[in-house]
Amino acid sequence: MPDQDLTDPGEPLRRVSPAAVVIAFALAMTACVLGVVAWKALDAKATTLERGQTDIQNLAHSLAEHAAHTIQSADIAMAGMVDLLKYRQPLPERFNRYLAKTVNSLPQLREIGVLDAAGNWVYSSLPETPRHNNSDRRYFTYHRDTPGSALRINEPIQSRLTGRMTIILSKRIDKQDGSFAGVLTAAIDSDYFNRFYQTFQLGPDGSVTLLRNDGVVLIRWPLSERSTDLSGTDLFSKHLKLNSVGYYKIVSPFDGITKYIGYEATPHYPTIVTVAISEDGLLSHWWKTLRTDAIVATVMLCTILLLAIVLFAQLRFRMKAERTLRKSEAHYRLLANNIADVIILIDARSLLRYVSQSVEPVLGLHPEDLLGRSCFDMIHPEDRESVRSATQRLVGIDTVSTVVFRTWRADGTLAWVESKFKLAAQPGDPAQTEFLCVIRDVTERKRMEDELTQLNRRLTQLAATDGLTGLTNRRTFDGFLLRQFESCDEISVLMLDIDSFKGYNDTYGHQAGDRCLQAVAKVIGDATSDTSGLSARYGGEEFAVVLPDTGEDDALKVAEAIRLTVRALGIPNPVSSRGHITMSVGVASRTEKTLDESALVGQADTALYEAKRLGRNRTVVSSSLDLQYVETDSIQHDGEFAPGEPAH
Ligand code: GH3
Ligand code: MG
Ligand code: MG
Repeated sequence: MPDQDLTDPGEPLRRVSPAAVVIAFALAMTACVLGVVAWKALDAKATTLERGQTDIQNLAHSLAEHAAHTIQSADIAMAGMVDLLKYRQPLPERFNRYLAKTVNSLPQLREIGVLDAAGNWVYSSLPETPRHNNSDRRYFTYHRDTPGSALRINEPIQSRLTGRMTIILSKRIDKQDGSFAGVLTAAIDSDYFNRFYQTFQLGPDGSVTLLRNDGVVLIRWPLSERSTDLSGTDLFSKHLKLNSVGYYKIVSPFDGITKYIGYEATPHYPTIVTVAISEDGLLSHWWKTLRTDAIVATVMLCTILLLAIVLFAQLRFRMKAERTLRKSEAHYRLLANNIADVIILIDARSLLRYVSQSVEPVLGLHPEDLLGRSCFDMIHPEDRESVRSATQRLVGIDTVSTVVFRTWRADGTLAWVESKFKLAAQPGDPAQTEFLCVIRDVTERKRMEDELTQLNRRLTQLAATDGLTGLTNRRTFDGFLLRQFESCDEISVLMLDIDSFKGYNDTYGHQAGDRCLQAVAKVIGDATSDTSGLSARYGGEEFAVVLPDTGEDDALKVAEAIRLTVRALGIPNPVSSRGHITMSVGVASRTEKTLDESALVGQADTALYEAKRLGRNRTVVSSSLDLQYVETDSIQHDGEFAPGEPAH
């Protein structure tokens, strides 16, 4: 069974979708960027507002000091003049010069003048004393009606002399009896303050206001017709009641703009200075920085977006590649697990790294039980060397080395397997070398091969052997003789024939004849069994013996031994003149004249013929055909038969 379906690569390999990963990444990065920008902006804003408050309050303090100093220096000069005029009536020319000199020494003053009790000019710092009457001015009526030496700071008025907006500082002049003698006035051009105030950078909607403590606006920079009385504002109704110095935020009731106001009451005089800066003005630099940060953040967000797109494309590509890989891996796994062969991956340390599922049907083993074990554990000890040398023969990735070895099945039985070894990758680092091994069970094939081999061996044996006697047959004899004749200088051949065997057959039947042949053949076979010689059935009741490296004398001895042993078997043969089975033997040994092996056989055959002719049961040596032969029955042994003596 395949462990997994081709179309379903399996649960563990499921991943989060690339879109989710990318969106999470993009959101996280965006949140980081926006968070940093927002944090930086808020922090910078708080710092800017804090610094703004300090700046505004410092400015309000400086301007309050300036206003106090401006008024005070005029006040001191005026106080002296009021005292003088109380007790004296200086000459106009002389006092006017004094006034002019005082005006010159105090830059804030435009002019100083003295009005008599009727409001007419008496003295003036001007080159020419004005002639008009000022008894209608509020400061005049105030002093006329209000005893006291305090300096009065009057609401701005348009000068009748210059037409410019002017702040009049005034003091009542008393007679010595305390009655009203007139008014001393000092005129300060509003422009004096305006010129000073305009030197400060207050932003588009910023302003400086010098107020009297009853709410009357003395100076406002920039110039504004908006309001001349601020007594109803929060400054008077709320803040000044709490503190003479302060700072607060308002939405301007005049222009609707949010502003930060710093205020401070001038020391010794009933005036207040306010400095107002709009929130936009205060935060203008912060806005600029925020815009720069926003541009940087936008660039970063675009980069993040770009990265997210690239990441998305990469993830999709990778997932697609992985899907394809998993699919093809599943294909290969399916093939590996379902083919009849077992696929094994072996590492450089001979450990099994992968074993296909097909090992179960083939060997009855489980892949999990094999993984991590040495491959040699699976190989029969006698076959390990051949496997090792098979793997050592692998030189390149295309080389395949095949070896057949024995392994064990799960039930302990041996199985023959044919294994094809191959390098899993191009050889490089020997420590990283991996072998791919495809194993196939060839036990049945091996059994059939062995049977065939046995059969062939048997066939070969049968082809070379005489079926009745078990001796080598004629064909094999011929081949053996040929080979020995070529390699041996000394060689002898015996030709042996059972005497009067036809009669034996006729008497005892063919089967008895066969048994007789077998008994004789055994004697002949035994004669060469432990030697380099060969005994063969030459045909019918004829036998032949090849004796390599044997001379005539020794060959004669062998021949006689056979002959006498056969006779000693005592097999009765009534047809034979001796009454027993006997043999005639012809012996021929190679001489210089012997042309070939056939000639040698021919000589032995001739000798045999001669032995027959001479009466059978004897041995005739070819070299002495007419002279030498061996005859039977000349020696009587203990037993039924007597071995023959050589006859001459
Ligand atoms: P001699 O002494 O001259 O050799 O006489 P012989 O009778 O032995 O010779 P002959 O050639 O006339 O007869 C050989 C006989 O051997 C003929 C045949 O019946 C017998 N023979 C040959 N082959 C076999 C065999 O395989 N089995 C049996 N039982 N008899 C065989
Ligand atoms: Mg014969
Ligand atoms: Mg015969």
